[in-house]
Amino acid sequence: MDKPIPYGRQNITEEDISAVIETLKSDYLTQGPKIAEFENNFANYVGSEYAVAVANGTAALHLCALSLGIERGDKVITTPITFAASANCVRYAGGEVVFADIDPETYLIDIESVRRLLEDAPEGTYKGIIPVDFAGRPVDIEALNKLAREYNLWIIEDACHAPGGFLLDKNNDKQICGNGKYADLAIFSFHPVKHIASGEGGMITTNNKDLYQKLLQLRTHGIVKDDSRYENSIEFAGGKDNYPLWYMEMQELGFNYRITDFQAALGNSQLQRADEGLKERRKIAGRYYKFFKDKSYIKGQSGIIEGHAYHLYILEVPSRLELYDFLREHKIYAQIHYIPCHLMPYYRQFGWKEGDLPYAENYYKHCISLPMYPTLQEEEQEYVMEKINSFYAAK
Ligand SMILES: *Cc1c(COP(=O)(O)O)cnc(C)c1O
Repeated sequence: MDKPIPYGRQNITEEDISAVIETLKSDYLTQGPKIAEFENNFANYVGSEYAVAVANGTAALHLCALSLGIERGDKVITTPITFAASANCVRYAGGEVVFADIDPETYLIDIESVRRLLEDAPEGTYKGIIPVDFAGRPVDIEALNKLAREYNLWIIEDACHAPGGFLLDKNNDKQICGNGKYADLAIFSFHPVKHIASGEGGMITTNNKDLYQKLLQLRTHGIVKDDSRYENSIEFAGGKDNYPLWYMEMQELGFNYRITDFQAALGNSQLQRADEGLKERRKIAGRYYKFFKDKSYIKGQSGIIEGHAYHLYILEVPSRLELYDFLREHKIYAQIHYIPCHLMPYYRQFGWKEGDLPYAENYYKHCISLPMYPTLQEEEQEYVMEKINSFYAAK
């Protein structure tokens, strides 16, 4: 193979390019009609009432944290095996992050370890949970919801890895990630390595109208433009019987976390092919699984799970560093997801240390993410599998 094989990459088609060009030629570069179109289509895709498009997935998390009213000292539980932004959003709002260990089989936050944290703390200690559909495998959001209601917690589902993924609930009903049935808010990212790419971009989905309104407001500086909600008098505003047309109020401290119209056009165009991409990802996962399932060097792998969206396909292997270097020599750029968040120097300052979360730490020692993206060719995948096999055969 002469072409390098990355672990993930975007797929930009001619239609995508046309959609962006069309928007560039329109009257709007930002805050135009493409944003609402993208939001509506995305809400339909996941089955939520509302969707709010924002500048990126991290901005989505930040706005979620603010809209739920996290305050200084509030404790929120998340997983250490995630991109740091899942945890950082709590810190942006002044809250404290408490990491729960993962389930070594699913690599997802372990509900029993969440339960233990809740049971061991005085009532009201924790305010919320941020589970992550890590690698594209949906968390058991139904079970988490049950636990959250017991302890009066909110849930932000970080579904960045799982657009189109779903959980089969107790009634065997499909609960699509981000549909708002069991989580208060869910967030997505449109960074190029994710399923749907818009350059930078993010989305928040919810079924809660109050949170939706709050998010819209926080996305644009905390500005309200609605006669019925103004706090200053008509007289102050400079009107007689009504508020003048120019009038608006900044009622709280918000941000500029908007997405541009041409990014929304790209996201929207990509969204039309999301199911196609998901089908390819599942095909690729199927081939990996079949190839590796009986190999003696495999300690664990993502496997075949209904509803898994396969953002990543993960193996747990011995001699991981050597394998990683060996693959690089052959221009296969596997990746490691993730260095446990609690052991990042930033989080160590709060007392987190090695040994705190043994399953997450053990997972990190062995995990490697294989190339996984819809345009990965079958010959390329076979090349990857054959290289891995030859590496272990030579050991
Ligand atoms: C990508 C990602 C984010 C952040 O998204 P950005 O758009 O890069 O800000 C957050 N959480 C997870 C799990 C992610 O994979």
